[in-house]
Amino acid sequence: MNDILKSIKSDQPTISFELFPPKQEVNLEKYKAKAEQIASLKPAFISVTYGAGGGTSRFTLDIADDIQKKYDVPALAHLTCVSTPKEDIDSYLKSMSDRGLKNIMALRGDIPEENTDRSKWAFQHASDLASYIRSNADVDVIGGACYPEKHPESKNMTEDIRHLYDKQASGINFLTTQMFFDNNLLFNFLYKARENGVTIPVIPGIMPVTKAKQIERILKLSQAFLPRRFVSIVDRFGDDEKSMREAGIAYATDQIIDLYANGINHVHIYVMNDYEVASAIINNVKDILGR
Ligand code: FAD
Repeated sequence: MNDILKSIKSDQPTISFELFPPKQEVNLEKYKAKAEQIASLKPAFISVTYGAGGGTSRFTLDIADDIQKKYDVPALAHLTCVSTPKEDIDSYLKSMSDRGLKNIMALRGDIPEENTDRSKWAFQHASDLASYIRSNADVDVIGGACYPEKHPESKNMTEDIRHLYDKQASGINFLTTQMFFDNNLLFNFLYKARENGVTIPVIPGIMPVTKAKQIERILKLSQAFLPRRFVSIVDRFGDDEKSMREAGIAYATDQIIDLYANGINHVHIYVMNDYEVASAIINNVKDILGR
């Protein structure tokens, strides 16, 4: 079985990390050193994001390749289809194949704010991209995104889960969630997804919030619900860098342990390229991970 699927399906708790590539080439070497440190923690896999519509995307495959070849950690390369013609998708998939990268996260990407001519996109939805990849590319594992609080564009959860079912049918092997700060939201979502025939593994995505200013961005991106306990932490420690970091790592650790305690065996961490955060989290659950 593919290494990523093996970890996701294992009875032993496992953990994986997400990294995002640097925006500029001048920062690439420094970034690679950070990625190396994070890979040295030996997560089950590392996913590398893709900047929708260009931007950071040109480094995604380089970084995924390094992680896999130099550090022997399975890599999952993201790809978005928003504003993208088919030739660009084909060329990315060819580059993956040339490098022996076989794991991909198929995403749509956020729709740009400026007027966009959707008729020029080869694929409208992540499931269209995933079907294409499954039939035309040499990949093993395809992941997709899901939203415990529903995708902001969906009218309601029922509609969103109907589209998740289509995603599953398109050949996606597992789903990773958007960040959330109250585990009950995930449990409710899982119940509804399973009731509606979504049977593939769902990996919770956890974001350790270590800086108060991250919250604005989180709310813009995901409209996530912030529980009172979380808001109190930010109110009390938001202006004190070290305390906020400590409290944010503790909050995320608590979420992770609660997920493991409730029978979820794989958790994906949005470590924001921060080795100290990744290492502190691993250290906090090292016995649970059997290390
Ligand atoms: P879709 O699955 O296409 O869903 C988008 C909306 O369309 C939803 O409301 C859905 O219900 C609806 N929909 C789906 N299928 C249909 C259909 N057939 N008919 C009608 N409506 C439909 N963004 C990046 O730019 N780069 C990244 O690397 C990246 N990584 C991510 C990783 C994870 C784990 C997550 C959760 C998100 C990530 N994103 C990334 C953000 C993501 O691109 C955005 O949330 C985007 O708005 C939706 O992407 P999607 O793949 O979920 O889209």
